[in-house]
Amino acid sequence: MILKNSLLNFDVVIVGFGPVGQFTANLLNQYNLKIAVIEKSKGICLKPKANVLDDEIMRNLSRFRNFAEFKKKTSVPEYIEFTFPNKKIIQSNPVKKSLNGFPLISMFHQPDLENNLSENIKNSKNINIFYEEELIDFKQKNNQISITTSSSDKKNNRILKSRFLLACDGVDSFVRTRLNIDQMDLQYNKDWLIIDIKLNKGITLDKVARQICDPNRPTVFMHAPEGRHRFEFQLLAGEDSIEMKSNNSVYKFLSPWLDSSQYTIERSEVYKFRGIKANQWKIDNIFLLGDAAHQIPPYAGQGINSGIRDSINICWKLSMVINHSLNPIMLESYQIEREIHVEETIKSSIALGKLIDSLAIAYKKNMPIADAVAPEARDQAYGGRKANPSEDINPGIYLNSPGHKFTGRLIPNCRLKNNKSVDINLDSEINGQIAIIGEGNIDDYLDHDTVSLFKKLNTKFINILDYSFKNTDLREMIKAGFILVRPDFHIYGVTDSEHNLQELAEQFFVSLCLNK
Ligand SMILES: Cc1cc2nc3c(=O)[nH]c(=O)nc-3n(C[C@H](O)[C@H](O)[C@H](O)COP(=O)(O)OP(=O)(O)OC[C@H]3O[C@@H](n4cnc5c(N)ncnc54)[C@H](O)[C@@H]3O)c2cc1C
Repeated sequence: MILKNSLLNFDVVIVGFGPVGQFTANLLNQYNLKIAVIEKSKGICLKPKANVLDDEIMRNLSRFRNFAEFKKKTSVPEYIEFTFPNKKIIQSNPVKKSLNGFPLISMFHQPDLENNLSENIKNSKNINIFYEEELIDFKQKNNQISITTSSSDKKNNRILKSRFLLACDGVDSFVRTRLNIDQMDLQYNKDWLIIDIKLNKGITLDKVARQICDPNRPTVFMHAPEGRHRFEFQLLAGEDSIEMKSNNSVYKFLSPWLDSSQYTIERSEVYKFRGIKANQWKIDNIFLLGDAAHQIPPYAGQGINSGIRDSINICWKLSMVINHSLNPIMLESYQIEREIHVEETIKSSIALGKLIDSLAIAYKKNMPIADAVAPEARDQAYGGRKANPSEDINPGIYLNSPGHKFTGRLIPNCRLKNNKSVDINLDSEINGQIAIIGEGNIDDYLDHDTVSLFKKLNTKFINILDYSFKNTDLREMIKAGFILVRPDFHIYGVTDSEHNLQELAEQFFVSLCLNK
């Protein structure tokens, strides 16, 4: 039977309501797009899985209404550490706030994030969520996608029409498989036992994220919010997953730190650390995001963060195409920008895994660390966190001009005071739109048609002379010239001796495939 509410027309259909689908629905909701979500499960997933959010992702989550409630449930470790099993510290870095305005890492409980994101949009008039419906078919024709779902009892079907389909359907993505998209395996495949526990009242452990470089078994010791703690143990060849995740085995694994009477087990799961990416992230109007597009070994905690970064990248572009009728060719920049980043992130996560193994071997052989680990290996292991991993070229919607050291970087998230002494957040001023930030009035630098076009695109003009602020990173950028910021807070380019604001703007319109 065909269900009622069938044949509805949407701007975007999202398949999969995991954290990436949820984040995407929230962001597209802010752009007032008409969205449907298809999720085969009954509701959100209540199992803890990913547990680290980075500063850029926290910044982007703070764009949503209920963020403060979620933030209360996160927690920040004091240090990120690498140690030997004898507790000797190899490296220890305090977890500081970055220019994104948040600590480099925040620990979270995945069900808290999923609850928060789904609650935020529960009553939105823009969004229809179809739980317990599985995507079983889709066809693209004449710029429209026809999407068929099946109810969980397989008795009913629904057909939805949409201009775009976003596949946020996880590792075993039906969409990716159906489109015959191959994946590139970066040849990393290790099983880890992940144990999440809730500590009894009064029991505490060090508030750190610690990698223990143990030659017998690399181990992760991670503080978690609300009295929780996570341990991860690399499984060795021949170890049986089912046996390893049993309660008795968990008690044994945790015995160096805790007695079994001091905690309850929330999850004990064997998870495969893999490095894989899809070779195509877009076919016509269908896009892959999150685990559907890539799997990243979680050494640097970048799996879920990379998925949300995909979403941040595509959502503003979809809004430009749908709300401002921009040429859809600009959407090609999605894979161009994200693939290079994800590939770098996978490589540095793998390098971090190998670094831990090398340090463990150095410990076993009693070798100096410098002999065991080449400096390049360390560099690569820490390299994947940059906003844009490319030092020289910035493929995609960026101004490529030699000497533009700010291109591709993120504009700092900082507090401003307006001339009435009211505290304002720069991100709220940008508010998910294009922004031009600089000293002076843009009418003095841009011709009338250019200003009109920017206004049509809802551009925010921020004359920084109207504000006071202390942020030294922002001050350094402003000193360079006018900054053109994309809605995802990435800097498109800055004026310099080669590009005045008019030229910068014209290049930007070309990058957006837009004629004045
Ligand atoms: C068992 C497990 C353990 C994990 N442990 C860790 C960890 O310890 N550390 C870490 O960093 N990361 C971990 N991860 C990975 C992390 O959870 C993911 O990176 C993150 O959830 C990615 O989010 P996503 O939205 O892309 O995909 P998912 O969270 O997988 O969500 C995909 C959603 O799509 C739905 N779906 C799939 N196919 C269809 C269809 N045909 N129709 C309708 N709906 C569909 C699914 O039901 C699901 O809700 C783990 C993942 C799993 C599965």
